Amino acid sequence: MFDYTPKQLELQKKVRTFLKEYIDPIAREVDANGELPLSVLEAWKEAGLACLVAPKEVGGPELDTITCTMILEELGYADLGTATALGANSLCSYPVLIAGTPAQKKKHFGPLLEGNYGAFALTEPNAGSDTGAIATTARREGEEYVLNGTKCFITQGGVAATYVLFASTDKIKGTKGLSAFIVERELPGLSTGKVENKMGIRASNTVELILENVRIPASCLLGNEGDGMKLAMMSLDSGRLMVAAQAVGVAQRALDECVSYVKERMDNGEPMASQQAVAFKIADMATSLEASRLLVRRGAVLKDAHQPYSQHSAMTKLFCTDMAIQVAKDAMDIMGNYGYTKDAYIEKIWRDARILSIYEGTNQVQKVVISGALLKKTKH
Ligand SMILES: Cc1cc2nc3c(=O)[nH]c(=O)nc-3n(C[C@H](O)[C@H](O)[C@H](O)COP(=O)(O)OP(=O)(O)OC[C@H]3O[C@@H](n4cnc5c(N)ncnc54)[C@H](O)[C@@H]3O)c2cc1C
Repeated sequence: MFDYTPKQLELQKKVRTFLKEYIDPIAREVDANGELPLSVLEAWKEAGLACLVAPKEVGGPELDTITCTMILEELGYADLGTATALGANSLCSYPVLIAGTPAQKKKHFGPLLEGNYGAFALTEPNAGSDTGAIATTARREGEEYVLNGTKCFITQGGVAATYVLFASTDKIKGTKGLSAFIVERELPGLSTGKVENKMGIRASNTVELILENVRIPASCLLGNEGDGMKLAMMSLDSGRLMVAAQAVGVAQRALDECVSYVKERMDNGEPMASQQAVAFKIADMATSLEASRLLVRRGAVLKDAHQPYSQHSAMTKLFCTDMAIQVAKDAMDIMGNYGYTKDAYIEKIWRDARILSIYEGTNQVQKVVISGALLKKTKH
């Protein structure tokens, strides 16, 4: 029941080959210079994986959630920044999958399947967790909307060809007045601003987007006016499972780096691995990692079976990302001086993993979602 199918195993092998060839050799360099070469996305496209969730009707692979989480775990193992960058094409696609018309699907997925990035643009300088504070406006003028505002911390925003962007069509209604739009990059009035200089996941590009009287056809509205909040939250339910899968991948890498180290490192004439304190710590790390993997799997099964999974997704994101941060910290502690240097991959993993409890909804926000769902339930 927990095994991958032969088809999934074949795909896992393909992804591992890709990562060995294209990511392993450059991961440290990209961490230093903060630029993932565009050739990586081109090779990812050649592997047929440019947008994992793109439906078959537009020529995409339409992978199920179990397969997507398997791939995201592999990417997270190799480099969390690359996982974040390549994962952006799925995150920005969920609103289109949920509410897009056939014409909108063609418009959105076309550029992604040709090997371009897309981005999900929700966050603003004064609207992070509080999406009701979104100040970007979309004003209807005849057969167009006119967009004005600033988005920030948008993953792949500086290199994307297309965005799914959230703006208010009715300020008075707060979150109920939010709407989602497909916005192409090359439009007059749309520009990128500050590029964030991040401590980790440096292969991903994180930028500010500035919209000054950007005119888009009214046909770019996804669903109806006012559907934006629902579409954003449903998209994040999926996205959080993917972040959790990446967390499992990066934690597995931390554990593997640590295990190799303690087998080699000598202490009082014995490998460090023979110390029970170290061995027990490693046992704890491996156990919490495996529990996390099962949470991700259950979330994926629920989603693929079209069962409610919003609360489970929040629990999975919360547990797996806290686990990954802890495992990275424990591995670095065990690896001591060496672990603290740039010679050790764990140093990069520790910096990369830190983002996991912050993006796609902070872990405090996950607790709001989980407790909210529990406390509103009626008594049995
Ligand atoms: C590298 C990176 C990539 C990102 N990529 C994207 C992207 O592609 N698209 C996008 O739209 N956004 C993106 N974001 C934004 C990210 O999802 C938000 O920044 C995140 O949700 C937190 O928002 P904030 O920093 O404004 O936190 P705030 O909302 O200011 O919160 C600050 C603190 O208060 C806590 N808090 C806030 N509200 C509550 C509450 N109700 N209850 C309890 N605690 C609360 C938070 O947990 C946090 O600890 C990215 C961010 C980063 C750093």
